Amino acid sequence: MTDPIEREGDVWIARASGTRWRVVCGLEVHAQLRTVTKLFCGCPVEFGAPPNSRTCPVCTGQPGTLPVMNEEALALGVRAALAVGADVAPWSKFDRKNYFYCDIPKNYQISQFDRPYCTGGGIDLPSGRRIRLHRIHLEEDAGKAIHDRGTTTLVDLNRAGTPLIESVTEADVTTPEEAFEYLTALKEILTYAGVSNADMEKGELRCDVNVSVHPEGEGWRTKVEVKNLNSFRNVAAALEHEIVRQIAAYESGDEARFPVQETRLWDADKLVTRSMRSKEAADDYRYFAEPDLPPVTVDEAFLERERALLPELPAARRARYQRELGLSEYDAGVLTADRGVADFFEATARLSGRPKDAANWIANEVLRALGDDEFAATTVDELPVRPHDLSELIALVTGGTIHTKAGRQVIREMLATGEPAGEVVARLGLEQVEDEGQLEAWCRDALVGKDAIAEDVRAGKDKALGALIGPVMQASGGKANPQKVREILKRLILEG
Ligand SMILES: [Zn+2]
Repeated sequence: MTDPIEREGDVWIARASGTRWRVVCGLEVHAQLRTVTKLFCGCPVEFGAPPNSRTCPVCTGQPGTLPVMNEEALALGVRAALAVGADVAPWSKFDRKNYFYCDIPKNYQISQFDRPYCTGGGIDLPSGRRIRLHRIHLEEDAGKAIHDRGTTTLVDLNRAGTPLIESVTEADVTTPEEAFEYLTALKEILTYAGVSNADMEKGELRCDVNVSVHPEGEGWRTKVEVKNLNSFRNVAAALEHEIVRQIAAYESGDEARFPVQETRLWDADKLVTRSMRSKEAADDYRYFAEPDLPPVTVDEAFLERERALLPELPAARRARYQRELGLSEYDAGVLTADRGVADFFEATARLSGRPKDAANWIANEVLRALGDDEFAATTVDELPVRPHDLSELIALVTGGTIHTKAGRQVIREMLATGEPAGEVVARLGLEQVEDEGQLEAWCRDALVGKDAIAEDVRAGKDKALGALIGPVMQASGGKANPQKVREILKRLILEG
């Protein structure tokens, strides 16, 4: 079947009817806060510990226990709010969200319902569009239900009670690409601010989308929630699929097929969404104020403290690198995608005094090492090369001791062994040959039988020298100073 729906930017056009469809989408993101302990008890937050080994009577919901709020979780939540320019409520409260499932031992989740600690704010995308935030609230995570062998369900409560912030956007997202951009920007902000490690593979960042479609100029229609999106790529793919599915359903004219308010799961193997359950309305959860916790209060001093801990955020750094250091938009983007890399770059730029060289070496060599199994490092901090090591290499190259090509060999050795640049250069004998006599001998050899080229050079075609420099470099094992070689060749030809 050929696809009857075509896309033009943020409009989807049904070929048969000619109807132009628009998309309305909101994103809900759960981010795990980077605390040492859980939200309402002293159990450690730890990924990968043996099942049920990080639990206590509070987070397993034993009768008679009382929750006590973790101040650090509130601090990180407030910092996240400040990072996205949101308003922090001086007074908010916790509520019980009641539902029954084996991974939620109290039969309710402590969350925030009608008085979240944070409202408003937003994130500006690189494309220039702004995605507004509706709210952010604090809540505890559930445990994990593991459906084993199809017959048994095992429950691990290590995750139960882990602090989360749930951020909810306004329905400002209009394409799958915007959803991807938003999530990328949000993750950058949360990791820069030290609020969350936001590692999706560990479930530290989880995303649900709400999506509906409507003909251009008409009112919004039924929204459908899609869950089980464990990568940003999956979010975009699921949205793409769900948009087309909904439009095709409306275009069929068959009301029985029209989208209903429900939750659907993304099947990343089959690339489809499947109906999971009809969506609960808020009153199905019988929310009521949590009687065991006092209201959450945040005063000016608390806000000031967190504001002072906010680092310069990625968008601001990108702009500064372009404005003050003369980097391209692309390089600024590459260097700021991760805070560790950005800090590494800034230190190298400062120590070497050559920001553009620092950017090139990091973007071309250091980041490549991070993606390479050979070096066994996943973050820049795990590499044996530190900013002062790299600035030493930059000085050797810019000072003419070695040339750029040899520099690449040196940095790879440095990344593999942690050996300082100067030692690698000495060990491998990579210093450029500066000796005039030796250079001239190589040049004379290269000129043998190359009268036509010499003739061109004499006629003013300096470009022709290139064909002679290569053989000299080869004869020198790459160690001749190419600038000097060029000068000597020219002199010999003009003299000769
Ligand atoms: Zn506990």
